[in-house]
Amino acid sequence: MELTDDEQKRYDSYVNRARSYSQTRQWYECGHAFLLARIKRVPEVRGAWLEQGVAVHAVIEDFEKGGRKLSEDQLRTKYQERYSGMINASLDKQPNPDMWFNSGPYKGLPNDIERRYQVGQEQVASYLRWTQDHPEQRIWKDAVEIRFDLELEGVTVLGYIDQVVTHEKKKGQGVRDVKTGLKPTEHTQLELYTLALNELYDAGVEWGDYWLGKTGRTSRPIPMSPDRSKFIEWFGKMDAGVKAGDFRPNPGESCARCPVQMSCEYRVDA
Ligand code: SF4
Repeated sequence: MELTDDEQKRYDSYVNRARSYSQTRQWYECGHAFLLARIKRVPEVRGAWLEQGVAVHAVIEDFEKGGRKLSEDQLRTKYQERYSGMINASLDKQPNPDMWFNSGPYKGLPNDIERRYQVGQEQVASYLRWTQDHPEQRIWKDAVEIRFDLELEGVTVLGYIDQVVTHEKKKGQGVRDVKTGLKPTEHTQLELYTLALNELYDAGVEWGDYWLGKTGRTSRPIPMSPDRSKFIEWFGKMDAGVKAGDFRPNPGESCARCPVQMSCEYRVDA
């Protein structure tokens, strides 16, 4: 692995830092993508869904932390401001239309960017309606965007959990992740959050679900029974791999949506 001085400094900083779910998942999906994005910091193809997701999360966080008092107009305005601010900053950094992902029939720059200005507003408005329709589901002990630092056999895992909720018809507290895109097909992230909540906050979480911006509803509750030893192995292998400089390419289906594909010699086209 040949690195410039700056890249070597970034690599050194990654050797001993806390691990996150997204960092670790990226390493498993393709180690070379991890290397290019985080250590070599090559130019990335952007997708406006990132700004949409961050802005929707921020507005929902404000709404919940403020006791659900904001009106639909206020939520829409907050989204407009957050999304526009982030998109404008991203466009300043990356004005090249070829470096923005298309989304279905929408060209990334400008169509998808413009479209998501509306889509995100509809999502925060639908979140408001959902809370009005389900007043029995409340945030547990102000647990919105809570940070955790979980020790797993010498590896520190850091993360932020969207929400812990109470629900009188379900058993005990639940962990909820807000998704502005597709519903996940596997639930490792929710299992990890459950493990952290129960070990660090004694939250007694036994189920989890997703609030889905695409439908304006929650998913079905999913029983949670995290396997600590599985996570020790999962994070331990990644941690050891990063320390050893193991950044293997894994070309395949994920290349099509890989942000660092323009700099990758292993890329395969679907
Ligand atoms: S284009 Fe494919 S092989 Fe290259 S870094 Fe991305 S996912 Fe890995």
